[in-house]
Amino acid sequence: AARAVSGVQGLQPYQPGKPVSELERELGISEAVKLASNENPLGPSPRAVKAARGVLGEAHVYPDGNGFELKAALAARHGVDPAQITLGNGSNEVLELIARTWLAPGRASVFSAHAFAVYPLVTQATGAEARVVPAVSADDARQPFGHDLDAMRARVDDDTAVVFVANPNNPTGTWLDAQALEAFVAAMPPQTIVVIDEAYAEYVEEDGYPDATRWLDRYPNVVVTRTFSKIQGLAGLRLGYAVSSAPVADMLNRVRQPFNVNAVAQAAGLAALEDSDHIRHSVAVNREGLVQLGRELRAMGLRVIPSVGNFITFDTGTDVNAVHDRLQRRGVIARPVENYGLPGHLRVTVSTAEDNERFLAALREALA
Ligand code: PMP
Repeated sequence: AARAVSGVQGLQPYQPGKPVSELERELGISEAVKLASNENPLGPSPRAVKAARGVLGEAHVYPDGNGFELKAALAARHGVDPAQITLGNGSNEVLELIARTWLAPGRASVFSAHAFAVYPLVTQATGAEARVVPAVSADDARQPFGHDLDAMRARVDDDTAVVFVANPNNPTGTWLDAQALEAFVAAMPPQTIVVIDEAYAEYVEEDGYPDATRWLDRYPNVVVTRTFSKIQGLAGLRLGYAVSSAPVADMLNRVRQPFNVNAVAQAAGLAALEDSDHIRHSVAVNREGLVQLGRELRAMGLRVIPSVGNFITFDTGTDVNAVHDRLQRRGVIARPVENYGLPGHLRVTVSTAEDNERFLAALREALA
């Protein structure tokens, strides 16, 4: 059944994966591998690193509070006006800005069960109600545990200020096609902000996967969020953004802290955008890794959720925390996703062929 929750007391703190250095210290080893946070195994573009270094000498100067150059580059990339871009300290901050702008006690957000953990955080922090809608059944062939758009639509009413849709979704890796998602957006009340979280968009190569930034002219209540943390390999610098109609961006910019995106992130992000080779290579490595991990996990008899992201979630069929501990003792950090309502499930970030194999070998031992 649908759940309605509100208040900060009802929240669980976000639990990031253990840092590699901490596990290495604990185990007295020097080569642990972290596959817990959907980071890019190839690292950032070398051009981004160079650009980041290049601005350190100007560290005494405030960053450009309007992110002029980066916004211009992003606007050109998406074919929109710079006034339609809002920069954030990671896309998490953009999600928080959206919540602070439109949510309040007496209002509600709607999102799917097993969706990204930050939606309840930012909702309940404002005193608004989080309406968690049951997902597609585990037995569905195409998107087990994915968003049930009809069920979500049924939970939207006059109090619903924000709807969060992750496409693809984390941690399931499931995705929505253009037809289904556009029909959903078209059915939303015009005053409801529809967030389409595309943190993993660049990885998706499936036909029919929509770029929701194309819909902004028709649906000015849509906000598309993107990040530099995944394909761009810049998670440590915290850079994300929203693409929306100009009036929506104007609202977000009223709430935004003046210097929320630092100068290093702005410089690195700008340089990263120009390195299309790095993106192409990252997509190709991920595609091979998805195939490798999917095939090998299924060969072990495990139930795998089909993923189009840079991670795969599967049912360990046993006590996932015990499996997680055994993996850590072998120097591998993955992520149990019980807190996403998926008991027994483990999420692993897709990495290089070598690290994927290392994970698989450790998992075979952990499950033996
Ligand atoms: N949305 C989704 C679906 C995510 O998985 C993540 C990262 N875990 C984010 C947003 C936020 O990423 P960041 O704040 O690093 O941009």
